[in-house]
Amino acid sequence: MAKIPRLMPQHPRMFRAEVVRTERVSPSVHRVTVTGPDLAEFPWQGYDHWFRLFLQLPHQHRLRLPEFTGTRWWQPYLAIPEAERPHCANYTVAGFRPGTAEIDIDFVVHLGPTGEREGGAAIWACRTRPGDGLALLDQGVLFDCPRDASEVLIAADETGLPATTGILRSLPRDTVGRLIQEVPTAGDVRDLDAPAGLTVTWVVREVREGDTSVPGTAALGELRRHTPADAAGYGFVVGESALATGGRRHLRRAGLPKDRITFSGFWKYEAPQAAA
Ligand SMILES: Cc1cc2nc3c(=O)[nH]c(=O)nc-3n(C[C@H](O)[C@H](O)[C@H](O)COP(=O)(O)OP(=O)(O)OC[C@H]3O[C@@H](n4cnc5c(N)ncnc54)[C@H](O)[C@@H]3O)c2cc1C
Repeated sequence: MAKIPRLMPQHPRMFRAEVVRTERVSPSVHRVTVTGPDLAEFPWQGYDHWFRLFLQLPHQHRLRLPEFTGTRWWQPYLAIPEAERPHCANYTVAGFRPGTAEIDIDFVVHLGPTGEREGGAAIWACRTRPGDGLALLDQGVLFDCPRDASEVLIAADETGLPATTGILRSLPRDTVGRLIQEVPTAGDVRDLDAPAGLTVTWVVREVREGDTSVPGTAALGELRRHTPADAAGYGFVVGESALATGGRRHLRRAGLPKDRITFSGFWKYEAPQAAA
């Protein structure tokens, strides 16, 4: 299997952009398409290419961005006065069309304990209008499959769906392995452009009112029932923090060396506060 071009760029580039259109692509996923003067030059590598997203605040005429060199954006970001500091969150390139300088971003719409929408970025995505300002800071690719991997095992919750969609689309067509993909509802299941030797298992949570099941738990259960064929495979586990750490632990116990596992907590579940 070919080694993936990748990883964090040494001099990540910031791209200013604005919203072109939005669309609800499935019950839990809201797509925002953006464009920008330089966005055709976004150094897209396929796979799970991701970026930090900076969102203009409602009262601003122009987005205020941190000024920095190299990779150290965090301190300059925090130095921006709170009233001017853009909301920042991590997202994956769901689609890239250099011809029209457009990038699609798929936001998981998530609800809080009382059923209201929550999350600064997710709420922004559902309300944004054409012309709204944002910026993307290129962060490269996490997927790091060794050249000699015998198989690829991937597990994700819905926040990892843009990543797994991109990975399956980018993988060499002779790749073998399995994707375990959890989604909130059956309507979120989509066609994936997967290599013929890669089995896709959808785990549908079917969230109902009052349901307190933590996203990622079902995918982790399915992953724990899976044993890697040998120690030469590669594992990639992303999503809610317990899925990422529990998935890594399972794959280690099942014999995969740690340098053959990429895991990343994309977000952390916070249990609802008990009423006083
Ligand atoms: C490399 C990388 C790539 C990512 N790509 C994507 C992507 O393409 N699409 C995507 O939707 N997410 C993606 N994520 C996850 C996303 O960054 C987080 O879900 C983030 O918290 C969303 O920001 P927010 O401003 O909406 O919510 P925040 O303000 O960060 O969180 C508010 C509250 O919402 C909860 N919360 C956050 N996300 C979820 C969720 N999905 N379900 C339930 N509760 C949640 C938090 O626990 C918190 O209580 C990615 C993360 C990483 C690290």
